[in-house]
Amino acid sequence: VATARSSLKIGLVPADGIGREVIPAARLAIEALGSDIPKPQFVDLLAGFELFQRSGTALPDETVDALKECDCALFGAVSSPSRRVTGYSSPIVALRKILDLYANIRPVLSVAPTPDEKPKVDLIVVRENTECLYVKQEELKHTENGREARATRLITERASRRIGTMAFELAAARPRKHLTIIHKSNVLSVTDGLFRETVRSVPRLNEGRFDDVQIAEQLVDSAVYRLFREPQIYDVMVAPNLYGDILSDAAAALVGSLGLVPSVNAGDNFVMGEPVHGSAPDIEGKGIANPIASIRSAALMLRHLGYAAPADRLDKAVDEVVRQGTVLTPDLGGKSKTEEVVAEILKRI
Ligand code: ATP
Ligand code: MG
Repeated sequence: VATARSSLKIGLVPADGIGREVIPAARLAIEALGSDIPKPQFVDLLAGFELFQRSGTALPDETVDALKECDCALFGAVSSPSRRVTGYSSPIVALRKILDLYANIRPVLSVAPTPDEKPKVDLIVVRENTECLYVKQEELKHTENGREARATRLITERASRRIGTMAFELAAARPRKHLTIIHKSNVLSVTDGLFRETVRSVPRLNEGRFDDVQIAEQLVDSAVYRLFREPQIYDVMVAPNLYGDILSDAAAALVGSLGLVPSVNAGDNFVMGEPVHGSAPDIEGKGIANPIASIRSAALMLRHLGYAAPADRLDKAVDEVVRQGTVLTPDLGGKSKTEEVVAEILKRI
């Protein structure tokens, strides 16, 4: 539920590549909402690999400090250097940690041919964002039999419970109210066993709040298989970090272009919208980046803050443009430029 605010302070971090082409589009879309939301106050902020190359830092302290003063933010994309670069680490990964954005939420939704029809794919992947193999504790040993590498996989009750609670909340707010817990506890009975058991225990700790959510569970391999064969069976899926990463990219493939898929990184006190795509160096500067993933990320961010109706307005405008099919960027088979697609969407907002 939206808390009363007189203005909405929104940090904008376009960062690298097409991030600089699509984040301004999201800004325009938010501005077009007019008085439907508290007056937006945008704060332009720097981060990224290109900034690192210019200045030696990928995430300046000023950016972090300014973000802490914002209500929410939109992040564009960071280029990933093809080789390890000394002194560089990803600013988005750092921001997720610093702002404690423990959930990565990715709705994957296909646009139905008409507004009355059901979309073929309409699901949300809720990915734990802070642990699992992403604690990046790896070691390499030289043994008599050659090299041996190990990685630590961390699963805690605390992180599993908070991601589980977020997933139940999302499921409870959707018409189907169905949650699938993804794991591999037949093999990893201790780590995945703890994840599964902890998520399952969430309703018990919430005194009836989630009683109407139907719970299913599935092994990650069979989940990928069924996702491709019958995506319509899924509503909300919750998974540990690595499975969630793989599932959410796989799910994105079901709806065509990466240029359509939004996400938010969410914690208890902050939410940051981020298109799922990367910096797309192959199309950078050509003016043909699809702005839809960013605009939908802005919608998702607003929805998360409790502004459901304005978020719907953004999503509806986007759906109409996709459905109409005449003004689209090349990734969707069209011939239009980013700015033409943006203009078409703004007109409908
Ligand atoms: P990065 O290392 O930053 O992830 P990448 O080379 O993996 O860069 P992605 O951004 O992940 O590139 O994109 C993968 C492919 O999808 C590229 O061919 C890219 O052009 C295309 N693509 C991604 N986002 C968009 C978009 N918004 N509009 C059009 N095409 C896109
Ligand atoms: Mg990529």
